Amino acid sequence: MKINYDPKLDFDDVLLVPQRSRTASRKEVELNRNFSFYHSKQKWNGIPIFAANMDTTGTVSMSHLLSKYGMPTCLHKHYEQNQYPDIIINYEHQWYSIGIKQNDYDKLKYFCDITNSVPNICVDVANGYTDDFVNFCRKIREDFGQKPIIMAGNVSTPEMVQEIILHGGVDIVKVGIGPGSACTTRLKTGVGYPQLSAIIECSHAAHGLRVGQSRIGLICADGGCRTSSDVCKAFAAGADFVMLGGMLAGTDQCEGDWEYDNGNKKALKFYGMSSHAAQKKYGGVKNYRASEGRIKKVTYKGDASLIVEDILGGLRSACSYIGSTSLKHMSRCAEFNLVNRTHFDQSV
Ligand code: 5GP
Repeated sequence: MKINYDPKLDFDDVLLVPQRSRTASRKEVELNRNFSFYHSKQKWNGIPIFAANMDTTGTVSMSHLLSKYGMPTCLHKHYEQNQYPDIIINYEHQWYSIGIKQNDYDKLKYFCDITNSVPNICVDVANGYTDDFVNFCRKIREDFGQKPIIMAGNVSTPEMVQEIILHGGVDIVKVGIGPGSACTTRLKTGVGYPQLSAIIECSHAAHGLRVGQSRIGLICADGGCRTSSDVCKAFAAGADFVMLGGMLAGTDQCEGDWEYDNGNKKALKFYGMSSHAAQKKYGGVKNYRASEGRIKKVTYKGDASLIVEDILGGLRSACSYIGSTSLKHMSRCAEFNLVNRTHFDQSV
């Protein structure tokens, strides 16, 4: 047994320090990013915020709305095999999610065969620390070549980020064990990693892997963002992409069980993809996330554009407060103050 006395931080433990700024107006802040990738030969341009591939939020309707902002969606994996060729028309912003079972592979292969194309892929498992996961990612890379951008996870420590990029052939590693709003992993198992520290440490590890000038390893901070300030902190901590579930839940673009009041939407049943609710609905997902999810009722929030614009406004403001002219340079400009003393006290 070993104890790490190094304090590890969550979003609530820090605030960004304001800095002298040369940005005249927050409108001038550039949120679009251009990425090249460690393995894939593709280039990607857009605002790097994903809708999570939960069946409530990773919907076709969400992808249509977000793509107007240049934002991607990881479509959930419970659409029928035959539906995908009609659904995926925007290859930049509609990503194909899979687990690591043979039928996941077969479904993807079917899509590629009948469309004669390869989509960007999100390989999603609860525990990205297994050999099976790394081997599966490598097989996808070997079989589908350098065309697709492959994102995969989840993990929360730097060594595994490098392992997944180097030996799994992955371009973007999804980081987050236990921070999700519908996740009970920390409660059920005692396993987890405070998300801000995970982002700082994992982005450092990923960015250290380079091919030439611009092709570096990347990470996607997945889970735990409850407000636009958390999204700002995630990017400031070094995230290249951020993934959102709960923040987009309860919007018009969600699918699922709505509660109505006089014909008007009142609340959405929002559940973790390994909760009993999801297991009951899909039967086959029993071992997907080992029942580490909760069910929540999320109050109706209106159109997802309201949430998106709130986040983009928050990001532009945060950049101008910390003297950054772009999302790209945010982490370079960022300085955090610790504001939660508990961590200091525990380490003494
Ligand atoms: P949120 O933005 O809601 O805080 O987090 C979304 C993320 O939570 C998802 O992208 C996924 O990684 C994670 N997640 C979704 N469902 C479950 C679940 O049932 N259990 C766990 N442990 N994580 C989940």
